[in-house]
Amino acid sequence: MKRALLCAIFLTMPVRSAASHANRASHAAQPAQDPRLALNPQVRAALDWLQSNLASINDTQARLTEIPAPPFQEATRAQAVKSLLESAGLSVRIDKIGNVIGALEGATTKSGQSDAVVLSAHLDTVFPAGTDTKVRREGPRFIAPGISDNGTGLAALVAVALALQAANIKPATTILFVADVGEEGEGNLRGMKAFVDDYRDKLKAVIVLDGSAIDHVTTKALASRRLEATVSGPGGHSWSDFGMPNPINALVRGSVRFINTRVPVSPRTTFNIGQIEGGTSVNSVPHEAKLKVDIRSESEDELMRLENALRESIAAGVRDELESARDRSKGKLSFKVQLLGSRPGGELRPDSPLVFALRAADEALGNQSRTERSSTDANIPLAAGIDAIAIGAGGNGGGAHSLQEWYDPTGREVGLKRALLTLLGVSGLAGDKPK
Ligand SMILES: [Zn+2]
Repeated sequence: MKRALLCAIFLTMPVRSAASHANRASHAAQPAQDPRLALNPQVRAALDWLQSNLASINDTQARLTEIPAPPFQEATRAQAVKSLLESAGLSVRIDKIGNVIGALEGATTKSGQSDAVVLSAHLDTVFPAGTDTKVRREGPRFIAPGISDNGTGLAALVAVALALQAANIKPATTILFVADVGEEGEGNLRGMKAFVDDYRDKLKAVIVLDGSAIDHVTTKALASRRLEATVSGPGGHSWSDFGMPNPINALVRGSVRFINTRVPVSPRTTFNIGQIEGGTSVNSVPHEAKLKVDIRSESEDELMRLENALRESIAAGVRDELESARDRSKGKLSFKVQLLGSRPGGELRPDSPLVFALRAADEALGNQSRTERSSTDANIPLAAGIDAIAIGAGGNGGGAHSLQEWYDPTGREVGLKRALLTLLGVSGLAGDKPK
């Protein structure tokens, strides 16, 4: 109720009153609410740079996409991003977990004690080593696994850094450009977790660039769990050991129970058996079978309920298989259900300067966007109480996480400008006179 009221106030607040409010807080570098940011000559120059360099931004995206970055193997792509950020004049390092961190010092830096605003994009893809990452062109489209998720984010990360350099912009608050590891799947947000652990108290806001579309802004973190169920047994010969309890049978029996679990439409709750493996040959009773399940919910309670349902279903599947085994003298089955990953939930406060900055950017560009709940790198700062959003970086993409993934850069400049304006909206600009 209170939130609905606040939103209504923001929507009806005239642009000028928002600006004068920002001016009243004069000592703080707080042009966050200032919709005139886009009219500042230096900012204009940065926006113009983006507009005039779209072809090279597309090229960078294709080049980075072609450097494979499977989970836990992002190092080569990280080096390439490091070089690109260095060419934008940043001082860049790679931290111990593999995140690339480039700093553009703010005017208010005092002996390294400054706050920081973060623009980030994840380096990793879901695709295993050996996947063909060559980028194909089909009309306006670029086609390659990872081209949009997160080639678009990485290209935009570099482009914004270059645009700030070209326009000689010094922010009030230090900006950290971060290309982080381990966002996808079993990476389990490890890059962002390590980064937020290191910088926690300094972080004023985090803007995550993920994928392409600019019709949304993720302000709510979707909680999720990833689990792996493993069933093991003695294994044997398909003919001579017939009747022995079979781990694949047990897993299938358990899976059928699990997928019949009812989930509510609201709070939205989902599950997916994403991987299943086991056995060694068609004529062997397998000694092991595994499956991986992703569960997500707007409610922590539902998440817990569904996790319990999986554990109970697998236990029941094993029980069913043992009960129907024709020859129990040939061994037993054991099983375990392990948590592979857990992403915490969280929400951005509606009066965050980050919301104002994004809305001002949308207004300046004539873009409209709705708020969304999703599972992204922004989960980590949001769960830690740090302001964070995730946005697409412009253009259009589809087929994410498939080999047919595509990206169409038409109109991408709007997404690039939106990222830049939102970033500067929260970082602020250094005063005209250098301090
Ligand atoms: Zn992504």
